[in-house]
Amino acid sequence: MTDAAEQAKQLHDMGVAELGRALGSGAVSSVEVTTHLLARVAAHEQLGALLCTDAPVALAQARAADARRAAGERGALLGVPLAHKDIFVTRGWPTTAGSKMLADYRSPFDATVVSRLGAGDAGGAPGAGTVTLGKLNCDEFAMGSGNENSAFGAARNPWDTARVPGGSSGGSAAAVAARLMPAATGTDTGGSIRQPASFTGITGIKPTYGVCSRFGMIAFASSLDQAGPLARSAEDCALLLGAMSGFDERDSTSAQRPPQNYHAAMLTARADASVAQPLRGLRIGLPKEFFPAALAADVNGAVRAALREFERLGATLVDVSLPRTELSIPVYYIIAPAEASSNLSRFDGVRYGHRAAAFGNLDDMYKKSRSEGFGPEVKRRIMIGTYVLSHGYYDAYYLQAQKLRRMIADDFQTCFRECDVIAGPVAPTVAWKIGGHGDDPVASYLADIFTLPASLAGLPGMSLPAGFGEGAMPVGLQLIGNYFDEGTLLHAAHAFQQATDWHSAKPAGY
Ligand code: GLN
Repeated sequence: MTDAAEQAKQLHDMGVAELGRALGSGAVSSVEVTTHLLARVAAHEQLGALLCTDAPVALAQARAADARRAAGERGALLGVPLAHKDIFVTRGWPTTAGSKMLADYRSPFDATVVSRLGAGDAGGAPGAGTVTLGKLNCDEFAMGSGNENSAFGAARNPWDTARVPGGSSGGSAAAVAARLMPAATGTDTGGSIRQPASFTGITGIKPTYGVCSRFGMIAFASSLDQAGPLARSAEDCALLLGAMSGFDERDSTSAQRPPQNYHAAMLTARADASVAQPLRGLRIGLPKEFFPAALAADVNGAVRAALREFERLGATLVDVSLPRTELSIPVYYIIAPAEASSNLSRFDGVRYGHRAAAFGNLDDMYKKSRSEGFGPEVKRRIMIGTYVLSHGYYDAYYLQAQKLRRMIADDFQTCFRECDVIAGPVAPTVAWKIGGHGDDPVASYLADIFTLPASLAGLPGMSLPAGFGEGAMPVGLQLIGNYFDEGTLLHAAHAFQQATDWHSAKPAGY
């Protein structure tokens, strides 16, 4: 796009890279963009995407970014507004994790992801200079697939406000899809970046476990939790991931690797590529278990059409198998609750969180505080978790699940002998109606089938818009890469988005 065309575009239609260029050329200031987007957030409050905003704080950050630019600093993200999933702790803002338990909580420090994207850390290392517009709605402690488990009410899908935006990063996805902001942070434990991206027609990437620091990310299941960006293109995701990622000594599971330039990796041409066939030589594996007979026809149709486009771009499709795909559901729903039950023990009314107003003795205080503070899904997971970890059941459930987790990870390595990336649907259907799963939590658990395997293996996964299905709702394509091979995922996704425009479609009225 030419500079003039970019300037004529509405500010809220601009993606991260475009906004960065407009800020860099001086066509707009961060204060102008921030003011515009805060007004949009306020005008679309009924989406329930944000749990809080703070205009004075956001505008102060915008002025600081403008001052950094005026002093000669460059930087693709400097002054670009976004918002954080309310599972990242943020100094000066409330952090609730979507739970009544933390309704009044304010953190004294920033999560590493927040400080790296923002003003930098307390030690003086500069951050990318993005502006925080607010905190984004999410399922309570990131447990859910529809954002319906938020203690503050469900966020809505801008493509059809009677439907869920996906979860648990539902507020992030709704806000980006509705053009309230160009990008948002999210976290993915079993699919919570990829699935809401898919349900709202945007692009999201969950990097390899260990790429983004978990310091200051309220823990759900520590061996699975990963942060990542949700945005409207692979390019924007690459820019954000570059700023969010990197070794952090405060997270013992942070990967010790040199800083990565994901944007450069995204652009790097393949050895045997041509202009017409930028993906020549790329082998895309299609696990037969990702295309079961029961897969909804609309999802199957959109995913298959996207795969044909990848073929036109030079990629070859190969059949592979992930034989334990179905087992990912019981394995995940043992391991994740086990870790959650341990992580959530800190919310006891003393160290953190809500404390009951009246109680008898200490035990009673714990009981009442936790009973009042946690919602039903969180309680269910704590009960499952303590059960599978208890004496007599540990071997039968938890240990067995850990063994299967290893086998699931090994199955991927067998596939990667024959392919460079794996592709399939993100979810078995398009976004469901709010309340559509009724009181049946298992209906939601089953819908996680295609995102859980990569989570259990710790592999990077991405969702990109691939078309529309039932009810004119977006359908996402999932790409899964090998460890630390985010560059290949972003490169393939970018090539697809250069050739197609599913990612530019936006919901009517936004
Ligand atoms: N839907 C899954 C769950 O409920 C995954 C959530 C997530 O990735 N945070 O646990």
